[in-house]
Amino acid sequence: MSVVPVVVIGAGPTGLTAATLLARHGVECLVLDRWESVYPQPRAVHLDDEIYRVLARAGLGEQFASISWPCYGLRLVDSDMRVLAEFRRGSARGRHGYPEANMFDQPELERLLRANLPSTVTLRGNAEVTAIVQDAGTVRVEFTDRTTGARSSVHARYVLGCDGANSLARASIGATMRDLGFAQRWLVVDVATRPTCPGNWPASSTGRCPSPHWTRTRPNARRTPEPSSGRRS
Ligand SMILES: Cc1cc2nc3c(=O)[nH]c(=O)nc-3n(C[C@H](O)[C@H](O)[C@H](O)COP(=O)(O)OP(=O)(O)OC[C@H]3O[C@@H](n4cnc5c(N)ncnc54)[C@H](O)[C@@H]3O)c2cc1C
Repeated sequence: MSVVPVVVIGAGPTGLTAATLLARHGVECLVLDRWESVYPQPRAVHLDDEIYRVLARAGLGEQFASISWPCYGLRLVDSDMRVLAEFRRGSARGRHGYPEANMFDQPELERLLRANLPSTVTLRGNAEVTAIVQDAGTVRVEFTDRTTGARSSVHARYVLGCDGANSLARASIGATMRDLGFAQRWLVVDVATRPTCPGNWPASSTGRCPSPHWTRTRPNARRTPEPSSGRRS
């Protein structure tokens, strides 16, 4: 029986980064994801200097710089656009050595992570993991090929559950989430905007919109920038 050192479930930012870091430490791994390629919808748009440092450790610092830009802060406004609160960030390096707030587009980051996977990482798409079973000494990961319906399994020394919010891995180990009672309804919208921003936000070094988050307290609409197109989500 062949045993893979590590099976990573999920090829989102967490799984791809973990696989890259493992490979850089000489650990082979197999990454399984239910989708064939990058999930195209925009989601995360911001990461901080600590995560930037992790990406740099994975060898992607310069490439991430080319698809991201420093965020100049966050401004909360009411329905009359009166400023309720704001804080500023900037392009100065924080204590982790990188700007403290950075805007990016999640699919673009995932493409970058996929393109830079070391050769000791095998990424298999269209693989829906259906069960994780602890055997004596190994973990059996069962999955179904979404294109053919064929069922397979692989034995691993370790399994990393990087399978997102509705995690099968989490359920498999019996971990639960505590409901903190958050009941707000959110709507995330992509819109096209001019690449300039009102107010006294400084111009960004990349010539892009200086990228504040604009948050209206009602009706829970949120606008955050996306790459050079000037779109915001
Ligand atoms: C609408 C929306 C807006 C968001 N906006 C923001 C934002 O503004 N800022 C921010 O920081 N974050 C935002 N997020 C959250 C952000 O997308 C997540 O924090 C991020 O994707 C987490 O990365 P991850 O790699 O841990 O998980 P994911 O990106 O969820 O990746 C998990 C991967 O596991 C795969 N997978 C899951 N189950 C299985 C299975 N059984 N078999 C095989 N593969 C499986 C999935 O296909 C997926 O590729 C948003 C999310 C959504 C949905």
